[in-house]
Amino acid sequence: MDERRVERERMVSTHIAGRGVVDPRVLRAMTEVPRERFVEREHLRAAYDDGPLPIPMQQTISQPYVVAWMCEALELRGDEKVLEIGTGSGYAAAVLGRLAREVHTIERHRPLAELAAARLRALGADHVHVHVGDGTLGLPSHAPFDAIVVTAGGPDVPRSLAAQLVVGGRLVIPVGPERDVQSLVRVRRVSATEITREALGDVRFVPLVGAEGWSDTPEGS
Ligand code: SAM
Repeated sequence: MDERRVERERMVSTHIAGRGVVDPRVLRAMTEVPRERFVEREHLRAAYDDGPLPIPMQQTISQPYVVAWMCEALELRGDEKVLEIGTGSGYAAAVLGRLAREVHTIERHRPLAELAAARLRALGADHVHVHVGDGTLGLPSHAPFDAIVVTAGGPDVPRSLAAQLVVGGRLVIPVGPERDVQSLVRVRRVSATEITREALGDVRFVPLVGAEGWSDTPEGS
């Protein structure tokens, strides 16, 4: 018996189902993916607390509730090709791997990408592919995508990402005029030329840094 499954079940019932996530596939994925494999050794005891935790390169592994909420907002049924921007620890990519047919995830920091790829390989997630690069430009070589999720906050929706959605596709991204607080937005491509946009709630993410995101160095620093 997986001894941390009980902790995951408690996390899901208290913090995830308990806060309004209802999609049974998302709840199952959150119960199955071993988050302790994606946190740093010194944070192992906090692996099932409902908060973000530090990872190398001054980045974070996201709060479990927010991962579940964003996954639910993508409306995945199991046969999709999904793109994630911001691999970080690889945890959300592992969850997405339980929800979709094929997952591509991009990270700008190579050491994080390499660590995440090794963790995903160890879990047998061979359909989750890790790339290094600027995810604000999407992944034209594998586009279009049924769903795109961005796990860092940008000033606005990158045009390249909206352009890489199939008609009917969803893009979930934190956006806003400040680098560290955002509104979580769902963009839907309704035709070849039109998208709609709805605000889902307030979030706090590390900055999305890239050609269609924030600059690498905050002004004034
Ligand atoms: N999804 C991650 C997880 O499950 O651990 C959490 C991601 S962390 C909140 C945001 C990540 O986005 C960081 O690792 C950061 O380096 C990455 N990032 C920021 N801008 C990026 C960009 N333009 N392209 C790719 N990754 C980017």
